Amino acid sequence: MSSVMPTYGRVDIAFTEGDGPYLFTLEGERYLDFTSGIAVTGLGHNHPHLVETLRSQAGALWHTSNLYLIPEQERLAQRLCDESFADLVFFCNSGAEAMEGAIKAARKYQSHVGKPERYRIIVFSGAFHGRTLATISASDSEKGQEGFGPMTEGFDRVAFGDADEVRAAVTDETAAILVEPVQGESGIFSATDDFLAQLRDIADEFGLLLLFDEVQCGVGRTGKLFAHHWAGITPDVMSLAKGLGGGFPIGAVMATKDAAAGMTPGTHGCTFGGNPLAASCANAVLDVLLGKGFLERVSMLGDRLRSEVESVSDHFPDVLESVRSKGLMLGMKCVCNNIALVDAMRTHKVLTVPAGDNVVRFLPPLTIQDEHIDQAISALHNACHDLSL
Ligand SMILES: *Cc1c(COP(=O)(O)O)cnc(C)c1O
Repeated sequence: MSSVMPTYGRVDIAFTEGDGPYLFTLEGERYLDFTSGIAVTGLGHNHPHLVETLRSQAGALWHTSNLYLIPEQERLAQRLCDESFADLVFFCNSGAEAMEGAIKAARKYQSHVGKPERYRIIVFSGAFHGRTLATISASDSEKGQEGFGPMTEGFDRVAFGDADEVRAAVTDETAAILVEPVQGESGIFSATDDFLAQLRDIADEFGLLLLFDEVQCGVGRTGKLFAHHWAGITPDVMSLAKGLGGGFPIGAVMATKDAAAGMTPGTHGCTFGGNPLAASCANAVLDVLLGKGFLERVSMLGDRLRSEVESVSDHFPDVLESVRSKGLMLGMKCVCNNIALVDAMRTHKVLTVPAGDNVVRFLPPLTIQDEHIDQAISALHNACHDLSL
């Protein structure tokens, strides 16, 4: 019997080593990892630059707290701002914590500009923002909320993609609009550029902040450094986590100077946030992602992966219904049970992640080669063949 609290439905396999897109069991069985630890290990496993960075930082200094300047954190914040809409960054350790920070920043902003009655946030159907009390309240999951009540007050949910509903939901108490530019957990749903632009307009018209949750879709996953770069509009606040540290836990809340005006000394904090180990790893991830042609390549690989998956899907209409994707964030809506496909893929030695809407996700490392796409597609073909009647 495991002494770990059974909050996860785990598969009974343990991996002891990784190499690029591959994971190995103790017995030496090799699996192609198209989960990336749920969009975390974007550079694959054991990336030499990440390993060397962590080794060298581990030999110098681990942790000092935010009582003191942390040079690696300063550099990371500067680089994230240089590459985005943001002027300021707050560091924490996870996606839920980054979302808590974003929600707090939105409330604080309204209070700071003399509108403390504006505390409510418009959120969407299918949203996932984390597992803390405020973020389960913002998320659209009955199972995630059940038995944990009362929920945190102040979230108003409307249909994802419907700008008219958003406009109609704005009241004198609305502080912000919170959206994932690409919804991950609910099954890979991209907001259209037009929808994001309309949210920007509504936020500007009513004095609201626009918050983007890029915890899953950010950090190169869609073929741009940030997913909203495809849409050509910017938020006021954005959360990051998953891919940022390449496997080392780190989260970030990025904001414009205006949006963060209320976040003054003593208003928010995090003991571990952006410590030397985490910040160095995130800087190493950026070194690779910002390299010449890297993100363009992610985009091209994403196009190829999608068209190959589509042709398998055309072949097996009794197993796969449709394919949705942005860059290397891909969802296959299944006709069969999605868990059956995840299991079948695993017997063909490829790891995938289930999502809502009966979807199976491919979230491969951003560093994959064409041969890894070939291997995944051949496994998908075989798995569909197994499941086809
Ligand atoms: C995973 C995820 C979170 C929560 O991140 P944790 O690190 O698990 O707390 C929040 N928002 C989105 C969009 C996510 O995919």
